[in-house]
Amino acid sequence: MDIAELLAQQAEGETGVLSRAFRRAARSAFLWPEEISDLIAQNRALTELRSVGPFIEKQIRTWLEKRPARVETVPAIRQDFMWLAEARRLLADRPAWRKKLRGDLQMHSRWSDGSGTIGEMANAAKERSYEYIAITDHSKGLKIAGGIDERALKRQQAEIIKENVATSKSGQEFTVLRSIEMNLSPRGEGDMSPESLLQLDLVLGSFHSSLRVLDDQTERYLAALRNPDIHILGHPRGRIYNFRIGLRADWSRVCAEAAKLDKALEIDCYPDRQDLNVSLLKIARDHGTRISVGTDAHHPWQLEFIDLGLAAMVRAKLSPQRIINFMPTEDLKTWIQQVRDRSR
Ligand SMILES: [Zn+2]
Repeated sequence: MDIAELLAQQAEGETGVLSRAFRRAARSAFLWPEEISDLIAQNRALTELRSVGPFIEKQIRTWLEKRPARVETVPAIRQDFMWLAEARRLLADRPAWRKKLRGDLQMHSRWSDGSGTIGEMANAAKERSYEYIAITDHSKGLKIAGGIDERALKRQQAEIIKENVATSKSGQEFTVLRSIEMNLSPRGEGDMSPESLLQLDLVLGSFHSSLRVLDDQTERYLAALRNPDIHILGHPRGRIYNFRIGLRADWSRVCAEAAKLDKALEIDCYPDRQDLNVSLLKIARDHGTRISVGTDAHHPWQLEFIDLGLAAMVRAKLSPQRIINFMPTEDLKTWIQQVRDRSR
């Protein structure tokens, strides 16, 4: 992570192509499967790593010979992120966490801005021995991400039901949950008819607008949690690595309200989101708030991002009882039904 920070700082001092190359390498560092120090110890080229060419390799080796002082000051916009090699090391020491995981509760398909079909996402999940996934394509308000309306959602459900029937005929125990990542207005209101949402197994709500405002947004979160159609609040802060710091709120109040309503806050595992991050997860832990984990995958291979979320749980010392993805399918559905009954 030191190298990632140095790459990001270097990008700020360069212009044009060089700046972009350093920036890209900093972002890619989250997904480098091995530590730079291990590659060097094994006499391997750093160009094996994504986004590292000969020029950047040379720069990294210079830093390793003499560690620059500036790495000590990491700006908030790049703080509290984990990287994959670190996450995997943490999880290797605690194999029980991976075994407890039964599914992934945020991913996109070709119905909105994903590149995989529902069948391809399901197959990738079966390879990971999951029991379920939630397909959470964007809703109609988010045009830029190919959001779908009520009619398309209905057609998508038919495809999911078909997929589930085929799976069960083949004797496998696996369910694709019908879900959506509903776009929320800054007032916490959704953009889909409540009737269409009732047809779904699970509803995520996320903010995608007014994410750069600086004043306290606690009321926005309370309104979103009180929205009767929502079960999970997706990527709550709305932060993006090196791009957007995310919203400010009284997180203690937000977590307490979620716990009171028995709704879940999400860990979005997308590498440059990692939202909630570890420090906010500790607040959620202290309030007993339920947590959902989702990769926000837009391609089947991205299901591997889940390790970033699992490692964050371990680091925040969350209680496994509060992780909704650790529930068997039927218990998960029971919880959703309870939340729905209470909201009415
Ligand atoms: Zn989103």
